[in-house]
Formats: sequence, C-alpha cells, structure tokens
Amino acid sequence: MSTAFFDATNNAQLRSCLFEVRETKSSGRGVFALQDIPKGTALIEASEPVAWVIYDEYAKEVCAQCYAYDRGRTWKMRDNAKGIVFCSHDCQVAWLTKSPEDECIAREEIQKLLKKKHKSTDQIIDKNAHRPSVEEIEQYWELAERTAQDIRACRLSLGATKKQRKAMQNAQDAVIEEPYLMWYIFEGLVRARSDVEGWRSLEQLAVNTQPYKELSDLARSTQVYLSLLAVVPKTFLPYVTQVLIRSLEGHSSVNVFGLRSLDERGEIGDAGSECFGYGLWPVASYWNHSCAPNVQKKRTGRMWRFWANNDIAKGQELCISYLGGDERSMEVVDRKAQLKDVWGFDCACSKCLDNN
Ligand SMILES: [Zn+2]
Ligand SMILES: [Zn+2]
Repeated sequence: MSTAFFDATNNAQLRSCLFEVRETKSSGRGVFALQDIPKGTALIEASEPVAWVIYDEYAKEVCAQCYAYDRGRTWKMRDNAKGIVFCSHDCQVAWLTKSPEDECIAREEIQKLLKKKHKSTDQIIDKNAHRPSVEEIEQYWELAERTAQDIRACRLSLGATKKQRKAMQNAQDAVIEEPYLMWYIFEGLVRARSDVEGWRSLEQLAVNTQPYKELSDLARSTQVYLSLLAVVPKTFLPYVTQVLIRSLEGHSSVNVFGLRSLDERGEIGDAGSECFGYGLWPVASYWNHSCAPNVQKKRTGRMWRFWANNDIAKGQELCISYLGGDERSMEVVDRKAQLKDVWGFDCACSKCLDNN
C-alpha cells in the first residue's frame, strides 16, 4: 500500500506524513510540505461534498449523482417532481439508495414551492447595496427567528394562533428568488443529519462572519430558512435551524469549489469551460491559492483528487489555483482583480509578484 495516499473523507482534520496544515503570516492557514514530494505524488482524495448545488439553468443537463455533463445535452432519466436528472440507471439507483423517504418528500415539497406561480411582489430592494455588517446580520436573523418560532408552533401544534398561521402561509407563498441557494442549504442540512463527522470537518474550516455581499443576499437566506421550515417533513424540522444554516453559509463563502465541465481541451485538471454549480469538500479546502500552483486537482464524479504538479521541496507551501476556465489565461491585472472580487484577497504569488 502506498504511504502517500491519503483518504480524508471522514477525517475532521487534514493530516498526512507528507504535509501539515499550519498558520501562515498573511493568509490564514496553509498546507506545507513535511518532506520533499516528487511530481505526480497523490496528496488527497475527497469523496463527498457536505453541500452542493447545480444552477437552475443546468438542472436538466447535469447528473445529480455523478455531475456528468455532456455539452448541454439533457439527460433522459428525469425526476421532475424532485427537480433532478440522472445520466444513467446506475446513478439513479445510487442516489435513491442513500436518500431516505422523508428526504425525497422534502425535495418534492421544495420543488413544488419553487414551481409555484407567484404574483410579483414589491420587495424592498436596497438601492445602496453594501456588505451587511455583523450587527445587521444579527438583526435580520433575530427577526427571522421570531417568525420561525411562529411557523414551528403552527407545524407542531393543533391550536395555532392566527398570527402563527399567517407566518406559515407567508413562508409557503414566498417568492424564492434564488432556487440554487435553497437547494444548497437543503443539501447541507441533509448532510448535517446524516453525517455528523462530515459536518464537524466543515466546522474546522475558516469562517467568514460576513458572508453576504448585499442585504438582499441576507434577506434571501432568511427567507430560505422560513420557507424550508414551512415545507419540509416534520422529521427534518430539528435540522432546519438558524445555527446550522449560518454555519454552512459562514464556512462556505470562501471554501467552495466550482463544479465545472470536464472538457479541458486536452489539459489535465479542472479548468472546464462551463461552471454549472458549486460544492463544499471540507478536507479539500485548506489549500491557499497560487496562479502558478504546485498542486493540481481533478474531479471525477463526486470525488476530487489532488497531486503534486511538480517536485515540491520540504517546507514549501502547497497551493492550488482557485481560477477556472478562461480565468487562467487572463492578464495579470484582470486576474488579480478577479481574485480580489471573488475571493477577497490580493494575490501575492510568485507569478503575480513577477507581473507575469
Ligand atoms: Zn451520473
Ligand atoms: Zn497570483
């Protein structure tokens, strides 16, 4: 058995004889080589995401089990009631085998809610979009929690008050502007219930205390919370909580991986031209970024593999590229702007320092 190989699927912490995670001076935690690592050495395998989502416009084109995508072809094995498709019978069976009945019902209820024809509503839109402060985030969630208590009361007791029934009705009638957010949060809650270890590994990651870009993002998240409370089977209610949703969002914003097509024009890696969703693989989220990465990654189905892209000396930091698709061929100025905008840091990798 190779000592280099490291299956981190269920480990809360990333450990190996080849590398360690430790604090860096400027960019939080990073991964560092504990010995010389020859090019091609396998580093990590991460098999199941804690949460994932396929964007609405790709919903019929990406297999819900293995994320297969074939240049926009729609897959024939559809489960319209749940809003998912499969590339093969095997994938459908694999998916159904691990999905308990109440999870299937929850999916169908969510799908019904999303497909409802809504009258357009006069939503309060913040004209001066800004990143909500920690205080604003608390206020929004506190307000949502009061409504959440009414919805819970309505679902769990027979003698609900008029106010509680009204809260329930509003949540069932709400316009969900970002279906993908609802699915992403739902997937996370499914994992919080079924895989406590996996969820713990999420909580080890760096957390962003202000994960919402604008107030409207925050409003959408709290709406997803209330609407999920209103529609999922009662067995799911203990998992639809503010704490779990905020933990998922706080740990996701800087740690998710794009789900990209695997058409790479002959290049090995993960730079496919279509980005059809994203997911969170906690053990795969410790790498810092470099525009000239010494670690290469590739997705196969639900699994990510990482290996040394060149010879790495003991003590060197191991980095992947956060850029995908066409972003990799950007000019240095645009590339740095993109990294700042999406990931929130000023890249100081060797390539950027060389103005290359
Ligand atoms: Zn498939
Ligand atoms: Zn760079």
